Amino acid sequence: MSSHDVLAKLASLRHQFQQRLPGEYKRFTDRWEHWTRLGEEADRQALLHQVHTLKGNSVTFGFSELSNRAALLESALDARQHTTESASACLADFLTELTAAMTQDSTGDSATPAVTPSTGLLAQEVPPASTAAPAARPQLAYITEPDTTPDQTLLNNLNVQGYEVIQAPLSSKATALPDWVLVDLAESQGSVRRFMAPIHRWLKHGLDVIVLINELDFQAQLALVRAGVEHCLMRPVSVDQLLRLVRPRMGHAPEFQGRVLLIDDQEQVMHYYQTLLEASGLCVQTESDPARVFRQIEQFNPDLLLLDINMPKATGPEVARVLRLHERFETLPILFLTGDHQQAAQRSDLLNTGSDDLLYKGMDETELVQLVTARAERARQLSDLVNRDALSGLNNHGAVQRALKQAFARAQREQSPSSLVILDLDHFKAVNDTHGHDIGDQVIRTLSQLLMARFRCTDTVGRYGGEEFVILLPDTPTDQAKNLTDAIRADMSALTFTTPTGRFTVTFSAGISDARGYSSHLEQFKAADDALYQAKQAGRNQVVISPPVVAPAAIADAPDQPA
Ligand code: GH3
Ligand code: MG
Ligand code: MG
Repeated sequence: MSSHDVLAKLASLRHQFQQRLPGEYKRFTDRWEHWTRLGEEADRQALLHQVHTLKGNSVTFGFSELSNRAALLESALDARQHTTESASACLADFLTELTAAMTQDSTGDSATPAVTPSTGLLAQEVPPASTAAPAARPQLAYITEPDTTPDQTLLNNLNVQGYEVIQAPLSSKATALPDWVLVDLAESQGSVRRFMAPIHRWLKHGLDVIVLINELDFQAQLALVRAGVEHCLMRPVSVDQLLRLVRPRMGHAPEFQGRVLLIDDQEQVMHYYQTLLEASGLCVQTESDPARVFRQIEQFNPDLLLLDINMPKATGPEVARVLRLHERFETLPILFLTGDHQQAAQRSDLLNTGSDDLLYKGMDETELVQLVTARAERARQLSDLVNRDALSGLNNHGAVQRALKQAFARAQREQSPSSLVILDLDHFKAVNDTHGHDIGDQVIRTLSQLLMARFRCTDTVGRYGGEEFVILLPDTPTDQAKNLTDAIRADMSALTFTTPTGRFTVTFSAGISDARGYSSHLEQFKAADDALYQAKQAGRNQVVISPPVVAPAAIADAPDQPA
């Protein structure tokens, strides 16, 4: 989603809220009339709930005055202090603000322009939440000296990675600005002099410039640094080196995609914050029922929990205390999100219940996003020490096993598809033997990057052992998993690795199984492993789906029939 789309979506959510206000007004006044006439407790409770919801929603959508009025009315309606008279005193102001909010223009009130993200959010193009299908191919200009041969292998590799490469000699007068410039310096000092003016120009236009060099020449590179160049790559350039450098710049898969579990009983508010956080590259799972917190944490494995405070089934502080009873949830950061300024005053009490900070609905959005991202990132760094494989950056063996167990249990419980892919590099021993272990490691890193860029943040990608990888795809049937894996297989086989000992390509084979066909995660794993073996036997560089022992339909439709 571009930042423009995000703004449009936030504005549309606000508009929808506004459109519901006349209905809210009618519901409220009808109930009020009923309550004051008959004095029924059920009416008072319903009014209290409606005012409370409006208080949270209105501050989120930028109507802070309405929220304040709702807060006053809410405390007047509250059981401990209420009298019909004290509530009536607040009623007129509340209804006046409610009416005003129906017609307020799209910028909301000036105090909290909640729908117009501050400049921090607008300044950068927002990366897509899912990298499965980047909208347009980013453009890369590859500039060479007039009479040098372009590095075709490098260009091909970039092409495979989804970049549109525009190749041009330095002398060409191309005017269109690409996203990114790769300068190929044939010989160091002479080339640097010839390239200096255009490099200055590109940098002035805010383009990212990466320079390819043949040798470490101090004077040449000093000149580049003085011109403002920040990245040099020395030949031979490994694919993974280039990708590490290019990806974050191109707004492709962000390096870090924090996972946030958002629990709030008010769907509209939840949807609003989900849109906001996802637009900044975070992966957000929402839940309106606090009782499902354990299940959601197990399935989604969040880096951070964002908790509403006032929820009817259990309050945010209660949820936090329940979680903190368990050692395994002790380190999960919890942030409370409140629309209630009275609660803000009790900040230190709230923080004692096991939360790490308190955020306000209606606070500056850039600040909110930055705070959440920073907390999630710090938490991820800590958990990475335990769960990540150092060479590839993927989930390690232990993390994959835990995730497999959970994915299997969930698929069984919900009778939903859940694919497990095991993937193994073909003839990898030969790569090590011919080119050395370091080059072998480079291949592992490259495949890891391809995998990380392609899968959703709800999928688990891990390095299971040496040159063996595992991917868990919840809610994905095996045929879809096969299509995805085949696409990556095609890309991997099209990459050329350049080394001092020669060029080569690498393929992999894969086996896939669906959790629904097996009675344990170990069986599911063995089935995918057998399918992988079949793929190897059939000539490698292919993906095989394991036939389920029990057809999924048979399990779902006729549980009593023998398999
Ligand atoms: P196949 O197509 O049957 O899978 O053949 P293969 O050669 O890939 O399989 P084999 O199991 O015989 O060899 C795997 C090789 O992977 C052996 C080992 O040297 C290499 N390997 C395992 N882990 C690493 C690693 O972390 N780095 C490097 N460079 N090589 C590794
Ligand atoms: Mg192998
Ligand atoms: Mg192997």
